[in-house]
Amino acid sequence: MHDIAVLGATGSIGGSTLDVIARHPGRFRATVLTAHRQVEALVDLCAKHRPELAVIADPALEGELARRLTAAGVRCEVASGHAALTAAASGQLCDTVVAAIVGAAGLESTLAAARAGKRLLLANKESIVMAGPLLLEAVATGKGALIPVDSEHNAIFQCLPGGRPELARSGVRRLVLTASGGPFRGRTRAELAGITPDQACKHPNWVMGRKISVDSATLMNKGLEVIEAHHLFAAPAEVIEVVVHPQSLIHSMVEYVDGSVLAQLGNPDMRTAIAHALAWPERIESGVPSLDLARCAPLQFEPPDLTTFRCLALAFQALRAGGDAPAILNAANEVAVEAFLGGALPFLSIADVVEAVLAELPAQAVVDVGTLCERDRMAREAARRVLRDAC
Ligand code: NAD
Ligand code: MG
Repeated sequence: MHDIAVLGATGSIGGSTLDVIARHPGRFRATVLTAHRQVEALVDLCAKHRPELAVIADPALEGELARRLTAAGVRCEVASGHAALTAAASGQLCDTVVAAIVGAAGLESTLAAARAGKRLLLANKESIVMAGPLLLEAVATGKGALIPVDSEHNAIFQCLPGGRPELARSGVRRLVLTASGGPFRGRTRAELAGITPDQACKHPNWVMGRKISVDSATLMNKGLEVIEAHHLFAAPAEVIEVVVHPQSLIHSMVEYVDGSVLAQLGNPDMRTAIAHALAWPERIESGVPSLDLARCAPLQFEPPDLTTFRCLALAFQALRAGGDAPAILNAANEVAVEAFLGGALPFLSIADVVEAVLAELPAQAVVDVGTLCERDRMAREAARRVLRDAC
């Protein structure tokens, strides 16, 4: 029996994870559920999954959470705040942690789970983008396991022998990350000038949280994933390639030196990657229907348009710059996306903000989490200044 902490339980990945867990009551148990501010949604999940602990990140909402749980007849421990999140991720109530908080807010709990030797199922890509070397070190120190949930990385993990070997020694030539191209594939810059948040969040193939949906529309999501792949698989930037594949049926590929290309295919439903990561190295049912290739449209592939979708080029630039440049990129992007979602920044200016902040804060070596968080703070401040100046 595995005891699982679902960090970010009220989100899209959190919901898919709980769906898979509920299909295997004899095998998995959701013992910890957390949310940011969605008290009602968290109470509903607690009523259904009966965890031992519910954590709300916003301390102002702890009392309300406790009251509502009692009113709903749910008996479980209640805690709040970031320290409680970290404690839950590293504590005795779980052996497995699904890191599904969105953004840099997930970094500390992800690191805590890794240090504590948990089996860490990583959806929160921002934490590995920000702190790749520190996270891998924490996994090594904790002697736990790190299993990627992001569908592309989960696909590559499945196509590599033993999941995460030394690429050169395994005869790997290239990692090919597929990208759907997002809702604006094929559009020109001029056509993207007046894009609204709702248009950007309407992804053709995946239903996801709003931040990652915007990242998918700008292709920053693919940029973050390139950096994620670099860390997870110790792959230099030169061996990572992005190809646009609008059907999202091939989740990514690995090319070997003999010319073999291994791909992982499936319907675009995150429950496949989540079920794989939960059960690895075994296989379990996920609830995802069989892929009916005969009914699929022809599979298309094309190179990404780096002129229109500049965020992907900026992510490659940050990866090549090294050090904490990816953390600076991520922080500036989080601020810019929030401003876009709030109607305060045009879609195309997201890349401008990221570019300006990268130029203002040249890369420094990643020393420790404290320094990294300070650089994250500086990048956010710089991004807000760029936003103010632009308005
Ligand atoms: P979401 O917005 O649907 O859910 C985010 C969750 O994080 C919610 O439970 C929310 O309460 C919690 N949260 C938000 N801010 C927080 C804070 N400051 N402190 C504590 N908790 C906070 O997002 P999502 O789409 O489920 O994505 C979650 C993560 O998984 C992201 O890093 C995303 O990039 C990654 N991911 C998502 C998908 C997908 O299909 N949705 C696929 C691959 C990777
Ligand atoms: Mg992905």
